[in-house]
Amino acid sequence: MFIQFLGTSSGTPTKRRNVSAVALQESKGRNWYLIDCGEATQHQLLHTQLSLNTLQAIFITHVHGDHCYGLPGLLGSAGMTGRTEPLTIVAPRGIREWIEATQRFTAFHLSFELNFLLPEELSTEESTESDEYPAELNALSFGQFSVSAVPLVHRVESYAYCFTESWVDGELDVEALRASDLPAGPDWGLLQSGVDVSNAGQLYRACDYVITDTRPRKVVICGDNAEPSVLQNICSDCDVLVHEATYAQDLAKQAAEYGHSYAGQVLNLLNKPMLRV
Ligand SMILES: [Zn+2]
Repeated sequence: MFIQFLGTSSGTPTKRRNVSAVALQESKGRNWYLIDCGEATQHQLLHTQLSLNTLQAIFITHVHGDHCYGLPGLLGSAGMTGRTEPLTIVAPRGIREWIEATQRFTAFHLSFELNFLLPEELSTEESTESDEYPAELNALSFGQFSVSAVPLVHRVESYAYCFTESWVDGELDVEALRASDLPAGPDWGLLQSGVDVSNAGQLYRACDYVITDTRPRKVVICGDNAEPSVLQNICSDCDVLVHEATYAQDLAKQAAEYGHSYAGQVLNLLNKPMLRV
């Protein structure tokens, strides 16, 4: 998978850094996902190879403008550059109503359908909430990822989105396949690409016939958050955490007052080396 930071400048842009947006691209193919969409995110995209036609879904962490004011322009440009495929937007309450009002009041017509989901609708089963930390909402499948949401602590409803690869490449267990009743052929290729196969009434699960020495990778991309400790459970096995550090440690009081974090808080959570951007 590939992560591109389209904006890391918190509430206001600078000449070199735009407001919040992150692109996450799948390992294979051109499909990608946008997490947050601050104003002028579509301008940032012009400096990348990413196309609005291969955008699979948008995930908005919270309603503050530096995380979503780029949505109408980006959606309009997607329509004008020929997008026809429906687009899913996962976002907290208010975003759907705002976009629909913008469409109504500005004669803004899209050539493709928008499907809105609330972050809690990623949940498909009962979640198990501990007393100490909020539950990770169970995942839904988006392309090569399963995606779940975790509620954060901010001045408004805010979420982290957790992307876990649903499949990793590996070698076919040819010995096991030869011992099975599944004839060699295209079905073997499907298994290697992670697709379960049915043949003569029997189900062959890809995970039983592919040998891999790696595990699916997990990336957590957060909205604004005053309490990094709420991510303790979900980050115990994550490979990458993208978290704000809006204030320096000497402004810790202001960070707490405005619902933000400073880098030291996040570092304490991870106890790992950190990439600063
Ligand atoms: Zn915010």
